[in-house]
Amino acid sequence: MLRKNYDMVCEQIARACEKAGREKQDAKLIAVSKTKPVFMLEELYAHGCRDFGENKVQELTEKYDVLPKDIRWHMIGHLQRNKVKYIVDKVYMIHSVDSLRLAEEISKEAIKKNVTVQILVEVNVAGEESKFGLTVDETAELVEGISKLPGIAVKGLMTIAPYVENAEENRQYFRKLKQLSVDIMRKNIDNVSMSVLSMGMSGDYIVATEEGATYVRVGTGIFGERDYSQKKDNV
Ligand SMILES: *Cc1c(COP(=O)(O)O)cnc(C)c1O
Repeated sequence: MLRKNYDMVCEQIARACEKAGREKQDAKLIAVSKTKPVFMLEELYAHGCRDFGENKVQELTEKYDVLPKDIRWHMIGHLQRNKVKYIVDKVYMIHSVDSLRLAEEISKEAIKKNVTVQILVEVNVAGEESKFGLTVDETAELVEGISKLPGIAVKGLMTIAPYVENAEENRQYFRKLKQLSVDIMRKNIDNVSMSVLSMGMSGDYIVATEEGATYVRVGTGIFGERDYSQKKDNV
């Protein structure tokens, strides 16, 4: 079932790329495996999936420890500064950087461990109260600030669009994030590339791909609904 879902999502992404005149390898799928048991990740790994997304530090490191080392782990959830040290040398990319203070902590720990951490700046394009992320107007300045820190490479932008019934309602926000990344790219800031756009989830990844997503983050569409009823406190 997982493999079938995974293949179906890949196919939809390829189709959306084609529709938008993009190369299909330009939009990649991250399997969002939060709350899901290791055996499910193993099944997808055996099927060829190498990109997994987690939103809790402890869950990410536990899975990291027991799964193959060629997996690219994407930290997609809100990250507390005191947890940064546990993941800087384990993650492929941190999608959720939303302050200079967090970036400074990532930089400090990256230098200690002698790694360069790829990060995305999280933008709250729709301006939702309940969400983390910068406003569109604040983003360029933060990118510029982070670009001066050693041990960090800014690769692009990420957004979590509102939950909507009709994915078309989110097209405006994906377009806005793409435009913002183009505007920032034009500034030619040293040490900053705007090659990555992380946007689109189960409900709206097709629209996001049409609008230029280079990563879509899909959980439910691959693994089914998440069950939080037995959630342990593992933030
Ligand atoms: C959980 C999560 C997703 C995946 O959501 P689905 O709707 O299950 O596809 C994507 N991005 C982030 C940041 C998430 O926390």
